Amino acid sequence: MNILVLGGTTEASAIARGLAGNPAFRPVLSLAGRTRAPMLPAIPARRGGFGGVAGLVRYLREHRVDVLVDATHPFAAQMSGHARLAAEAAGVALLAVIRPEWLPQAGDAWVGVPDMAAAAAALGARPRRVFLTVGQQELAPFAAAPWHEYLIRSVEPPDPGALPPGARCIAARGPFEAGAERRLLEAERIEVVVTKNSGGAATAGKLAAARALGLPVVMVARPAAVAGPAVAEPAVANAAEALAWLRDHVARQEAARQGAARRGV
Ligand code: NAP
Repeated sequence: MNILVLGGTTEASAIARGLAGNPAFRPVLSLAGRTRAPMLPAIPARRGGFGGVAGLVRYLREHRVDVLVDATHPFAAQMSGHARLAAEAAGVALLAVIRPEWLPQAGDAWVGVPDMAAAAAALGARPRRVFLTVGQQELAPFAAAPWHEYLIRSVEPPDPGALPPGARCIAARGPFEAGAERRLLEAERIEVVVTKNSGGAATAGKLAAARALGLPVVMVARPAAVAGPAVAEPAVANAAEALAWLRDHVARQEAARQGAARRGV
């Protein structure tokens, strides 16, 4: 079974590792190419966009993809929309891996906002020391609030042109443990944390640290789906469930093939 895994997430890497070496599957991992030195599992990988929905349909057909696994980041709404449209157009099965959102717990002081511009506005008019962990692509709105002192953490250093003046950057890849996050927030005298609601355990340590220190968290909500049919595709919450779904799918396809062969179809 030919499987295309749309990745850039820990889930996609775990699915790739789980499929590697299994003769029932011929998987390929697709990365957007945002990270210059990605951690690549032991399956074939490709990098870069497909060229919109039409390009993805072409890829699915040319490579005879049987199942498209959308394990993109929860904020990669455009790619997920393209996956839905292209899978439908090419008649390819689609499985979505949707990491559960973080939910506030007792003691949390979250300020929910719909997007990055609202996150920058939510920091207010008084200068504050801000821990900004929203990735490297969407920093421009914070340059419009230059009176805050920003400590920015991202997997790779952001483009210096996109930074608020005086911002300091840490390039680091998770997982980040709560104790170390607390020590960082204390050492930097951080007053407020800004994050996307990415979900998952790897980067949840900062939320526990903020809770323990009584710090507010500006939480950017996930984007709504941008395109695609309204009918929900099968969805699972993590890599283990995705692998189980794929094993079931291959067994169902094989049973159907044997049934058809018996009937002489
Ligand atoms: P996006 O806005 O959904 O996608 C933009 C375009 O990038 C897509 O239309 C597609 O180009 C290409 N693309 C995205 N994922 C791809 C994949 N797995 N394989 C091949 N091409 C891919 O997503 P984004 O620009 O990557 O990121 C949007 C948000 O997600 C940001 O908040 C970012 O921080 C977060 N995020 C993304 C990743 C990642 O690996 N992509 C990882 C962590 C966080 P074509 O239309 O040309 O096919």
